Amino acid sequence: MALTGIQIYKLLPQTNCGDCGVPTCLAFAMSLAVGKAELAACPHASEEAKTELADASAPPIRPLEIGTGEKVLRVGGETVLFRHEKTFVNSPGIAVLVSDDMSEEDVDGRLERFNTLEYERVGLTLRADLVAIEAVSGDKGKFEALAGKVKEKIQGGIILMSDDPSLMEAACKVCADCKPLIYGATKENMDDMAKLAKEYGCSLAVKGKNLDELSDLTAKLTEDGLKDLVIDSGARTVNKAFRDQVSIRRGAILKKDRSVGFPTIAFPCEMADDLMKETLIASMFVAKYGGIIVLSDLQGHSLFPLLLARMNIYTDPQRPMAASPGIYEIGGPDENSPVLVTCNFSLTYFIVSGEVEASRVPSWLIVVDTEGLSVLTAWAAGKFAGDAVGIAMKKFEIADKVKHKKVVIPGYAAAISGELEEELDGWEILVGPRESAHIPAYLREWKG
Ligand code: SF4
Repeated sequence: MALTGIQIYKLLPQTNCGDCGVPTCLAFAMSLAVGKAELAACPHASEEAKTELADASAPPIRPLEIGTGEKVLRVGGETVLFRHEKTFVNSPGIAVLVSDDMSEEDVDGRLERFNTLEYERVGLTLRADLVAIEAVSGDKGKFEALAGKVKEKIQGGIILMSDDPSLMEAACKVCADCKPLIYGATKENMDDMAKLAKEYGCSLAVKGKNLDELSDLTAKLTEDGLKDLVIDSGARTVNKAFRDQVSIRRGAILKKDRSVGFPTIAFPCEMADDLMKETLIASMFVAKYGGIIVLSDLQGHSLFPLLLARMNIYTDPQRPMAASPGIYEIGGPDENSPVLVTCNFSLTYFIVSGEVEASRVPSWLIVVDTEGLSVLTAWAAGKFAGDAVGIAMKKFEIADKVKHKKVVIPGYAAAISGELEEELDGWEILVGPRESAHIPAYLREWKG
């Protein structure tokens, strides 16, 4: 049962030291109660308080991991209804479905696309995360063989799908070391599936016929000691599935109902008969509030926009995406190559570096730490001022790399040129284009 702010306050040291970043223990307790602070931020909480507060400080949606190693997928851990309240934490896993009644060619095609459809965007790698393996034929050998094949061929997480505990056990034996998600427990097979989840140390998906049944099942399973659960309300129409997702999230966050405080799994693959419609439905679950989203297939033209939507929604709105400050060599520059300066807002960095690369003029690009702010915003905030840029250029020792003394600053930051000239003795400050798209033409005419 979640504690109130006052109950939490009574367990804190009450010294108002401010080390947690909040001026008083009471304010910290209130933030903790609504999931807007982490107990770890208070370094003075006693062990006893930590134990008692564990429940209060746990995210209302339980975080869990599927898979192992580098490709482990983290889902859940959410604390808010709306992204702008704080941030969404773990982006939903995108899964592709294969079944043991599909032709080998079909399965191989899906696995091939799962492995190869991968995109780089603002320094991140975007791709699908899981393969869901469904037992349809009822043949234990076929299900087992498909599980083995998927395990061998993919780098990613696995969902095993069957209502039959004996089939599930056979597949678990094959890929237990990958820590698959077992899908799933129902009212009828709950005890057997729970036993398997415990025996193989896997997370368990629970499917109810409706939210009430689902809630009863999770309450029983958690009493039985199973905490890493993924939930499915059983809805397979878009309207009902959407309403259930919202009810689950509201129940977990607003009512602090632990029986629905788990990541969800959604099946657009069962709600549409063409991939584009499926993708549209999947994008709805990305926004509201899918933990895992299962698609019937992956195609570049549908997957890429879905991954982009996911990336945008799961970017922390309070923390701009930033590239590492430093000096970047583009196209093998030498001592005569142009030197350009920009900010470390990820999008700016990737656009500018892309345009420099497209110019085919080898160049040095100095990325100044503007705490992830864009050029104009950083300039207005004093983080892209002449002295800051000058200090960065000295720190990255650009003078040792070129024999000329010319630096190109962004057109929108022309106002810093005088200040930068004062900071950099003997350097000529050139004002570059305002728009990145004009960089290639500018560089091609650049004279060192
Ligand atoms: S760090 Fe702990 S003791 Fe200090 S003000 Fe914050 S909650 Fe209170």
